[in-house]
Amino acid sequence: MKRRVALAAMVWLLCGAVAVLAQQRREIRFPDVPGYQTLKCDLHEHTVFSDGLVWPTVRVDEAWREGLDAIAITDHIEYQPHKDDLPTNHNRPYELAAGKARERGIILIKGAEVTRATPPGHFNAIFLEDINPLDTKEFYDVFDEAVKQNAFVFWNHPGWQGEEKGRWGEEQTRLLEKKQLHGIEVCNDREYYADAHREALARNLTMLGNADIHEPAPTEPPTPEEHRTLTLVFASERSSQGIREALDARRTAVWYQNEVIGREEQLAPLFEACVEVLPPHHQDKDRVWVKVRNHCELDITLERAGEHGPGTIKLPAEATTLVRIDAPADVRAAGLSCRATNFLIGPEKPLLVKLVIPAQ
Ligand SMILES: [Zn+2]
Ligand SMILES: [Zn+2]
Repeated sequence: MKRRVALAAMVWLLCGAVAVLAQQRREIRFPDVPGYQTLKCDLHEHTVFSDGLVWPTVRVDEAWREGLDAIAITDHIEYQPHKDDLPTNHNRPYELAAGKARERGIILIKGAEVTRATPPGHFNAIFLEDINPLDTKEFYDVFDEAVKQNAFVFWNHPGWQGEEKGRWGEEQTRLLEKKQLHGIEVCNDREYYADAHREALARNLTMLGNADIHEPAPTEPPTPEEHRTLTLVFASERSSQGIREALDARRTAVWYQNEVIGREEQLAPLFEACVEVLPPHHQDKDRVWVKVRNHCELDITLERAGEHGPGTIKLPAEATTLVRIDAPADVRAAGLSCRATNFLIGPEKPLLVKLVIPAQ
């Protein structure tokens, strides 16, 4: 009898353990592109070690559940509203989260947010070795130290206090000239900054979009419009080094609401991977009927940019859509010119694509 009770207890314990490990993960569907894996990264997050409301390990569990590959916990260095409750050791959030990140297979990047009045504003330094030496008064000393540690530095939420305060300033110029500024947030949570988008293109900075999450992650399932703002990183390998190499090479895109924002070099292959046109299953004279598969999280809209084809093609996320194409065979083979309105290669500038209809 005793043995049976012990056995039952063991089964119960095991079930409990399995239940914890089996936390469900919802994968984020953006396909890989030729030569690179598409990694979903949030490189700007807060915990109780600055003004966030969760313990560092919770950020790792959220990342797992939400289908992320990598996160950077970037607590404010200078803004420490919980310092009476938690001693200020800027390295602790990373140290506390590292074990759980290994167990979950989440890439954890050590970082911090340099938090000064705006302008010049806030900056994230990631891939740091030791955050504590960055806790210093003089603005430029912080970046000297960050770069001494080979950090990747980006300007956060440039327009968060309005367009005027978010303009590119002399501090940004000086940092850029000293090669101490490498990227810029084009989007932060629910904000998009057209000026930052223009600066990223004009000054050849890496584009980022992050959640800057402070509260616990929401529990409602995401939709194409409502989801965590992320940086898609096109990495040659799924590792911290792979992400760093891709950031340095500017191989990123920003997933923001129902759009991806990036350079044409990245968005063109991403579009190709997302939209698959199957060979026509029916035709009569100059018309064919085809199935078009959308393999990504966006509700994609294509607008006609040439003479042939439907005015608008709507391709809901993760679905197959039946489309009738009125165009001669040679035009179908060459491809219908379309504007991919969800793929932005500049402010209000959609990617131009050719929708090639395979032969029957
Ligand atoms: Zn900030
Ligand atoms: Zn922040």
